[in-house]
Amino acid sequence: MRLLVVEDDPDLNRQLTTALTDAGYVVDRAFDGEEGHHLGDTEPYDAVILDIGLPKMDGISVLEAWRRNGRIMPVLMLTARDRWSDKVQGFDAGADDYVAKPFHLEEVLARLRALLRRAVGHAKSEFECGPVRLDSRTGRVTVTGNPVKLTSHEYRLLAYLMHHNGRVVSRTELVEHLYDQDFDRDSNTIEVFVGRIRKKLGVDIIQTVRGLGYMLAAPD
Ligand code: CA
Repeated sequence: MRLLVVEDDPDLNRQLTTALTDAGYVVDRAFDGEEGHHLGDTEPYDAVILDIGLPKMDGISVLEAWRRNGRIMPVLMLTARDRWSDKVQGFDAGADDYVAKPFHLEEVLARLRALLRRAVGHAKSEFECGPVRLDSRTGRVTVTGNPVKLTSHEYRLLAYLMHHNGRVVSRTELVEHLYDQDFDRDSNTIEVFVGRIRKKLGVDIIQTVRGLGYMLAAPD
């Protein structure tokens, strides 16, 4: 899952980025509204954490511009404490949820997980395909109850496929969602990761759809 953090306070931006990276997300960061707007408008993020008070372009205007342009990724707004007008404006502009400052990082993470689940129509954090289970809260993967150790890249790839179970996911889509913007985007690496995941799981739930990408399917 690839996220964008738009927050001008450098300490807060760093804290958020660190917590999200530790939680297994890929994170891009912006420190003002213009930069944030540009990234959100051009890169395919799974969710955005957006501060309201930003230099160059405020968070509300950034969000309105995204929504006008048809960008529908879930957005979690960071609002000043007790500023109810911020919250109303935020929701009117198309925010999906908000957290008031000062906040606990755990709360941001929990709300973000809820947004990401809602965005793909899931009400829970556990995913299942055949004997494979993935718990996005704990980052644990098991096959018939036995834990499987995946690297963070492998885990993200499998988690993305689990989130989008039921449809074909192209290599390009995986590359765009699994790596930050500076990563060398070679779709051959995806094939290598998929190969490793198949080997580690020991069951073939990742089907290659020739010319299109990958799709999960429970073995017969
Ligand atoms: Ca701010």
